[in-house]
Amino acid sequence: MNATTATAAVFVDRDGTLIKERGFLDRVERLAFYPWTVDAIRALNHAGLRIVLVSNQSGIARGLLTEAVVEEVHGRMESVLQAGGAHIDAYYYCPHHPDGNVARYAQHCDCRKPKRGLVDRAARELGIDPARSFIVGDRWLDVGLARTVGARGVLVRTGYGAIEEMQTTRDLAADAIVDNFAGAASWVLMNMDRPCR
Ligand SMILES: [Mg+2]
Ligand SMILES: [Zn+2]
Repeated sequence: MNATTATAAVFVDRDGTLIKERGFLDRVERLAFYPWTVDAIRALNHAGLRIVLVSNQSGIARGLLTEAVVEEVHGRMESVLQAGGAHIDAYYYCPHHPDGNVARYAQHCDCRKPKRGLVDRAARELGIDPARSFIVGDRWLDVGLARTVGARGVLVRTGYGAIEEMQTTRDLAADAIVDNFAGAASWVLMNMDRPCR
């Protein structure tokens, strides 16, 4: 897929961005959407943007949850979204962590954010141009990932975002810092037709 046909996407973090931060979400019953998430995703769907979830799930490597649980959570998320006329185009997650205690996941990998592996996979599989895209999350690592792939990065203050915002020592600036994912969606819609700086 070349740059003229590749599409723009919003890569979205999961925990603390679309759904409430729960530490390690180990049971689907503990899943809770923020009240604005479905509407915000639907607005982005209608704007023709691909929506791609990119999530670090090191709880798998740590033995705190399984890939089956993560898949179940994503299945539940998708039914809630679709009931509201919204959808996420693809769900990607990194199950790894170098300090994990489950052997097959305890490794350095190229997909744990802020590494770019998940974005590269999505770009390849879905024909996305990262340079026309956005990354929204509640951690500086999400913004760092945006910098790495040439996307625009939006930090939300939900989840860890308000704490992250106060950590001013890092050499990293977000394109926007907003209260929540509704604010991020508005910012994306206002900026999607402008070229990346
Ligand atoms: Mg997060
Ligand atoms: Zn990984």
